[in-house]
Amino acid sequence: MSRDTLTALVRTIPDFPKPGIQFRDITTLLADGEGLRELVERLVAIARPLDADLIVGIEARGFILGAALATALGKGFVPVRKAGKLPGPTVGIDYVLEYGTDRLELHEGQAPVGSRVILIDDLIATGGTAIAAAQLLQEQGASVLMALFAIDLPDLGGMAALKAQGIPAEAILTFE
Ligand code: IMP
Repeated sequence: MSRDTLTALVRTIPDFPKPGIQFRDITTLLADGEGLRELVERLVAIARPLDADLIVGIEARGFILGAALATALGKGFVPVRKAGKLPGPTVGIDYVLEYGTDRLELHEGQAPVGSRVILIDDLIATGGTAIAAAQLLQEQGASVLMALFAIDLPDLGGMAALKAQGIPAEAILTFE
């Protein structure tokens, strides 16, 4: 399946969650069997040569892609969640949003010192979420080999910001 066909499976919802925002919705791609397989195969092709120990997915759509990627690679999957969702002892990081702050958490011990991890989410916009998640992993002593996304919005500069922090990043699809 071509990249254009895959791109056409992503739905754009105007004015969600706020007026003026064009929300790129991957649920239409996920609901298409061939599209989902193509997306996962493309993610696997990038990730496999790195031979990571763990795949770390960011809530919530990073769980879907991360679990598929981890399963294909035969590696474990670890969730990074919004504050207060994980049941066990956690470590966390606060990060700044356009209005206010947010917090991401990880179960203590699930990104061990020296572990080599790949971070994954559905989409990168400003990069704030992915950079915070990567920093949290690095604070635990894990090495973030790369960050992977289904979609990049290059106008918002997130991939460039991640790379400026020394974290290689790739996305399968781009929406200008
Ligand atoms: P960032 O922190 O600005 O890079 O925003 C990325 C985070 O917001 C990711 O967790 C995405 O799932 C979510 N996000 C932002 N914009 C969109 C969108 O258009 N579609 C889907 N998710 C989005």
